[in-house]
Amino acid sequence: MENQSINQMEQRKGRRLLLFPLPLQGHINPTIQLGNILHSKGFSITIITTNFNSPNPSNYPHFDFHFINENLSEDEKSQPNIVALVQLINSRCAQPFRDCLAELLSNVLEEPILCLISDVGCYFTRAVADELKLTRMVLRTSGATAFFSFSALHLLCEKGYLPIQDSQLEKPVAEFAPLRVKDLPLIDSCAPEELYELVDDMVNATKASSGLIWNTFEELEQPALATMGQDFGIPNFPIGPFHKRFPASLSSLLSQDQSCISWLDKQKFRSVVYVSFGSIAAVNETEFLEIAWGLANSKQPFLWVVRAGSTSKSDWLETMPKGFLEALGERGHIVKWAPQQEVLSHPAVGAFWTHNGWNSTLESICEGVPMICMPFFTDQRVNARYVAEVWGVGVQLEKREREVIERTIKGIMMEKEGEKLRGRVLDIKEKATRCLCQGGSSYQSLDSLVSHILSFQSFSPVLNYF
Ligand code: UDP
Repeated sequence: MENQSINQMEQRKGRRLLLFPLPLQGHINPTIQLGNILHSKGFSITIITTNFNSPNPSNYPHFDFHFINENLSEDEKSQPNIVALVQLINSRCAQPFRDCLAELLSNVLEEPILCLISDVGCYFTRAVADELKLTRMVLRTSGATAFFSFSALHLLCEKGYLPIQDSQLEKPVAEFAPLRVKDLPLIDSCAPEELYELVDDMVNATKASSGLIWNTFEELEQPALATMGQDFGIPNFPIGPFHKRFPASLSSLLSQDQSCISWLDKQKFRSVVYVSFGSIAAVNETEFLEIAWGLANSKQPFLWVVRAGSTSKSDWLETMPKGFLEALGERGHIVKWAPQQEVLSHPAVGAFWTHNGWNSTLESICEGVPMICMPFFTDQRVNARYVAEVWGVGVQLEKREREVIERTIKGIMMEKEGEKLRGRVLDIKEKATRCLCQGGSSYQSLDSLVSHILSFQSFSPVLNYF
């Protein structure tokens, strides 16, 4: 056993990669999963992470961890403007990241470094890696279709779709069919110019990288992947779905309430609606009450994740309508955070009411669970439109009102339409499973990625740095 691990260490020598995630749950999970995937291919993995939202290193004894101080105040970390938060992370992390990288590179004689893989959202790494002459690849944690429309925000402005006007919300965006103006990847909590600037920085840093890794698969997003490949002019590696190779539960920043699994064990086959809007999205008090009553009135069992911070009240129980929990009895189960992948793969789950974050969307598809789509911002809107109109594996919730919610839940759980959605999602699930098997599209793409990385010259202090 000991000999075996010494052998493995020898084989990994000179095959070290540095990974840097954007410190948000939906970005940390795929970065850690990518680390595991590349580790299984014989690379040594170093994770550089901010102290803020760091994954727990003791869950990954096979990785090296280095921490940097992101220099954000508590108020800055908890601000609701996600665009401003990402911009702050980019400006504050540059110096500590550079110092950390320079130190790692100064030990390079002990072990050369092949490249840095940073999140597309961490565009500041471009200048640092250029300065230190380290090859840089990027990981995009959203879908390709969403990133494609993201990268075209300027074009959409020129064509007059943006800034959005309320009277134009239903207007089709001919250049990006079947998107409508209201599906464009914008966010209401910041000025449009702020978002355009962020997207420009991300797109430019991506185009200047040595390759783009995607948590998606060809069979799902072939047209967008092909277009991105041409437009960006860099190698593309769709090697997803990541979580089917390595689950995300260990990189959860919040503790996952396992009580939902024993509750699900008591429910009938495909009878439960699972409700979760991810790690960032929040609803106002009126919407919260509509959701609660919509769920109750549907008479369908439900498992609802009400994360701290997902409503305006600090304690979610305060937001519950009076008498709601008592009236519900055993029919509803509410938790602060769930083991989502386990939940979605549980036979009792019949539908997922989701915000359509990319990880949630992929996880649902891969477990064959049809979706009720309620996107909030950016890529979620594009994902939701594709789920409903292109892949045909979900329905959009048209209004956040209790009658509409009740009707939509009944439709997906009890009517023919729901069966059709399930048939299609099971079909795509099958493709997602096959693409990871030997000869499948993601399997081959991962082989290409490994060859691509191995073609980089190891970082040499003599040639590159001094
Ligand atoms: N997640 C979880 N428990 C929950 C809700 C979400 O473990 O109760 C995980 C989910 O499996 C996914 C991630 O958190 O991997 C959320 O990522 P996504 O891209 O869907 O949304 P975001 O949080 O970035 O908006």
